[in-house]
Amino acid sequence: MDNCEQGTASFIEIESLLRTVEEAKKGLDYEVGTLISRNGVVLKEYHGGAHYISTPEADLPLFEGNIFTHNHPSGRCFTQEDILRFIRDRLREVRVSTPKGIVFSLKEGEGEINRSIANVMKEENIGSYIHAAHLMNERQLDLTGTEYQVKLFDIMGNEVDEWLTQNAQEFGYIYSKGEL
Ligand SMILES: [Zn+2]
Repeated sequence: MDNCEQGTASFIEIESLLRTVEEAKKGLDYEVGTLISRNGVVLKEYHGGAHYISTPEADLPLFEGNIFTHNHPSGRCFTQEDILRFIRDRLREVRVSTPKGIVFSLKEGEGEINRSIANVMKEENIGSYIHAAHLMNERQLDLTGTEYQVKLFDIMGNEVDEWLTQNAQEFGYIYSKGEL
């Protein structure tokens, strides 16, 4: 029946809610995660640190089938951990927004989906700290301190971005990036 969708927000309304929520995080120097239901209702907000957010185990049932959007003050793409959690939490969509207003999104497609995507990424060392450190060694990037860390995390973020661009579809997911 057509009216089974009554009382739920339209695609446009959810997009506009996401935009408002993500816009408000542009100036933050710490991560905030917002859990939004598939009907476009803000369920919960989580405050984290500069590079992390933790969500309590007890909240897991709230995540299934819903949308989780969080900001990366660093401006980088998803981490490997973000993708592992996306699968563990059985979300419909995970998003990252940046201070410059870029939004990365990974969501379930319409067809069959293959949840092994996160494990495959992990097995292939995509976005792994140790792997990035190896690459830096190989490339003989002679950096120290903060410069070293920044470059390392850049490599990790770029790896995840490139891998998802090439492979997400094969697992039934839609990966996209765009501007707020
Ligand atoms: Zn993240």
